[in-house]
Amino acid sequence: MTPDEFRRHGHQLIDRIADYRSNVARLPVMAQVEPGQIKAALPKAPPQQAEPFESLFEDVDQLIMPGLSHWQHPNFFGYFPSNGTLSSVLGDYLSTGLGVLGLSWQSSPALTELEETTTDWVRQMVGLSDQWSGVIQDTASTSTLLALICARERASDYALVKGGMQALDKPLIIYVSRHAHSSVDKAALLAGFGKDNIRYVDTDADFALIPSALEHAIQADLANGLQPCAIVATTGTTTTTATDPLAAVGDIAQKYDLWFHVDSAMAGSAMILPECRWMWDGIEKADSLVLNAHKWLGVAFDCSLYYVRDQEHLIRVMSTNPSYLQSKVDSEVKNLRDWGIPLGRRFRALKLWCLIRAEGVEGLQQRLRRDLANAKWLEEQVRNAPDWQVLAPVNLQTVCLRHAPAGLSGEELDRHTLAWADALNQSGQAYVTPATLDGRWMVRISIGALPTEQEHVAMLWQNMQRAATDSLPEQLSS
Ligand SMILES: *Cc1c(COP(=O)(O)O)cnc(C)c1O
Repeated sequence: MTPDEFRRHGHQLIDRIADYRSNVARLPVMAQVEPGQIKAALPKAPPQQAEPFESLFEDVDQLIMPGLSHWQHPNFFGYFPSNGTLSSVLGDYLSTGLGVLGLSWQSSPALTELEETTTDWVRQMVGLSDQWSGVIQDTASTSTLLALICARERASDYALVKGGMQALDKPLIIYVSRHAHSSVDKAALLAGFGKDNIRYVDTDADFALIPSALEHAIQADLANGLQPCAIVATTGTTTTTATDPLAAVGDIAQKYDLWFHVDSAMAGSAMILPECRWMWDGIEKADSLVLNAHKWLGVAFDCSLYYVRDQEHLIRVMSTNPSYLQSKVDSEVKNLRDWGIPLGRRFRALKLWCLIRAEGVEGLQQRLRRDLANAKWLEEQVRNAPDWQVLAPVNLQTVCLRHAPAGLSGEELDRHTLAWADALNQSGQAYVTPATLDGRWMVRISIGALPTEQEHVAMLWQNMQRAATDSLPEQLSS
């Protein structure tokens, strides 16, 4: 494709995306396809001859679009908000179009320095002290893996340059709440800790980690000759957006000299609102934290911000520094390859930069406040409706609820919950995610897609009530 052809198709592509965003509300939210249906419609083998780009656009319309669930739909209430704000989409296109790579500072100096600047902007926006340095990773899963590797190396006095974990005489132990994200488990397994060395600490009635239970677990491990290594606390757990008490957990981390990582992948965005900062009380006691700018903040996926207090330690763990990547300015600049796992680095800072400049901090704050108010509104409706329950504190934009009419309990209630959630999703009117809480199914309503206004939440509430009534087992439905 020549630059001129690119210009023509590129304009068409931008028009298509603008049309999509303008009209997405008319589509069913959830993809209405069967497993394997899309693959069956695609050619088994690649084309031998070049095809006109127009035919590609046709296939996008015919084959791809029906296979999408629409995250940018005003009635998308699934998982979490992943807001590809259009300003940041342009930043993403710019990054891809420029096609530069950050292998070292020298390989594209602006790439590194804009990343330093934008991660420092976000640091200020969320109220962190200037003790923190940030770097962009792909996902929170990667950021948490880095945190646990850094924890492992601090606890083992850099075992990686000696016999590694295999030469340690005591197993290292990780502590997480029962409501921590599965990526924490995965990170602990990949970092070599082993399932047996992950402790799942009990949570309270609000699904937050209990500090005394944490300390008890640490003492039990010490008494058994094991070596406590790291605690991962969460601000905004996945199921209910619960908030672990960071100040109390941080004190325990300090007392036992443990690495303290905070998973704020979801709730970190909310820290741009001073009224939400109570959730981060004690954050300065942490060693590392992750905040997914690609969730509620609105950066196009993927853009996960990893912050550390001790950058020298991170670099010491992550640096390999082969000769062909060294340069004479190395002592004056950051080489971000030493701040994470991959060598190659996309120019992700551009989409973060575009978002912050085009929306402004106040614009971002306004949108998040709108979503918080919508969640509060829904919470109030559900609390006031007979037979409906709100199951967890609504700290952010997620409401966990259940329709529990008298006469339904146990597995029968589970079947009812899954039935109405499925009916609602199949109807194309909304996309919600069922999840289990204390061993029973409930439905999570995650508010915060860009175009979601109060009227959409009001419509959702009506549709939920109808779906729940229509799905009642026969003996209860009259
Ligand atoms: C979304 C989320 C993750 C995982 O995020 P990825 O960026 O997809 O790896 C981890 N922890 C929490 C609390 C999350 O909300």
